[in-house]
Amino acid sequence: MLLKGKTAVISGGAGARGIGFATAKTFAAQGARVAILDLDAAGAAKAAAELGPEHVGIGCDVTDKADCARAIGEVLAATGRIDILINNAGITQAIKVWDIDPESWARIQDVNLKGVLYLSQAVMPHMRERKAGAIACMSSVSAQRGGGILGGAHYSAAKAGVLGLAKAMARELGADGIRVNCVTPGLIQTDINAGKISDDARVKILENIPLNRLGVPQDVANIFLFLASDLSAYVTGAVIDVNGGMLIH
Ligand code: NAD
Repeated sequence: MLLKGKTAVISGGAGARGIGFATAKTFAAQGARVAILDLDAAGAAKAAAELGPEHVGIGCDVTDKADCARAIGEVLAATGRIDILINNAGITQAIKVWDIDPESWARIQDVNLKGVLYLSQAVMPHMRERKAGAIACMSSVSAQRGGGILGGAHYSAAKAGVLGLAKAMARELGADGIRVNCVTPGLIQTDINAGKISDDARVKILENIPLNRLGVPQDVANIFLFLASDLSAYVTGAVIDVNGGMLIH
């Protein structure tokens, strides 16, 4: 029971086949009380109910600072404490760089990057007051290698921004006992890419993955568990690749 007595907030956990829900299930199994925040309020409530009555699911748009504060307030009213924040919510858009317009640029930055800032800011007063907390943020291999099969250049930019934001937060919050880390997954089989990878593309992708398989949500959930638990008590500002070896060079 690595998370016994702890409360964890996980954004983007409504999708039954997503990384967020796999993380929520993993944390609950390790003794945590989980709050799932998602744009899909009904999905968040359903996902939480599936985990058990002590867990909560709340609608929240991470691009809206006031909504993040409201949702975190609701979590605190229900649970009295927040020990862990997993900034997982995100969206992709498979378009070429020359097709990115101001609206798509803004939308991708808002959800993937600004959302990490707003939700982290919302938990900061509570974590700073308690002088404890673990925040883990979702970046992507797209931030490291540029582009991606499914995300566009704007997605790569946003996920690279998450790395910088997380490292800066790690520096500023360390004195308050708050750790901030990132994960950079490779290609993980979820709804975000379901049906979008042709057989040819799959063969090509696997040629570059030494472990010779695509990732599954549990692969990432396990790393979030490590970063959320006291096993990583002396780890902050770190970036952990979860990509089957895709970037070995
Ligand atoms: P997913 O679509 O199942 O999960 C994304 C979740 O974010 C959804 O539940 C969605 O409703 C929620 N969301 C979207 N916009 C939101 C908003 N404004 N406010 C709150 N919630 C919002 O897909 P997933 O693959 O599980 O993705 C989870 C995260 O992992 C994303 O940040 C994604 O970019 C990242 N990621 C995924 C992969 C992959 O291959 N699947 C690889 C690297 C990184």
